[in-house]
Amino acid sequence: MEKPIENYWRLRLRDLKETLEGNNFEVFIAEDPEAAKKLVLEEIIPKLGPETISWGGSMTFTNSGLYRALQDRSGIKVIDTFEKTISPDEMMDRRRKALLADLFITGTNAVTETGKLVNLDMIGNRVAAITFGPKHVIILLGRNKIVPDLEDAMLRVKDYAAPTNAMRLDKKTPCVKTSYCEECKSPDRICNHWTITEKSFPKGRIKVVLINENLGI
Ligand code: SF4
Repeated sequence: MEKPIENYWRLRLRDLKETLEGNNFEVFIAEDPEAAKKLVLEEIIPKLGPETISWGGSMTFTNSGLYRALQDRSGIKVIDTFEKTISPDEMMDRRRKALLADLFITGTNAVTETGKLVNLDMIGNRVAAITFGPKHVIILLGRNKIVPDLEDAMLRVKDYAAPTNAMRLDKKTPCVKTSYCEECKSPDRICNHWTITEKSFPKGRIKVVLINENLGI
């Protein structure tokens, strides 16, 4: 067989799409971040017609170029929760307002082969928006986030994603020094709110874009 790795991922993503659709998610497959960006900008957003849009922490979202593209998009009010120059109070206010946006875009820490999204948040604004508030949610998801089951998902998050995110964010937590989760009591602890999204309710509210590359943390 030629291109076995490409074939493997084509089959895996096809199966995961079907499984997620069985859990009431609307699912798309994109070959790379550029294709995901085009899909969101040219198909999903025009179909949804949001008046307000916001987002929550996701390297996949920023690295896809969508963050910059949406900042410049006319006709949509943007609630920018990534802007670096605003005060902590203003940032918290925007995070609250983002919960009432028409469209919220983010990533997920893991997805199981049984079609469940698993996330762990510091503040909770991202998992809150995935759960309830925004009319529509888009989850951008690199293939490296796929794990067999919930146990592996939680292991992935605590053993890998949380320490590396703490490093990325320059947190003063033990995992930044050791790479292992120490179940810290640090004020900088980023592991506070778990969510498991078993199904999209209402059906189709959460759209998942499966991207055929390793992306994010
Ligand atoms: S609980 Fe603390 S030590 Fe463990 S991963 Fe989270 S921030 Fe790091």
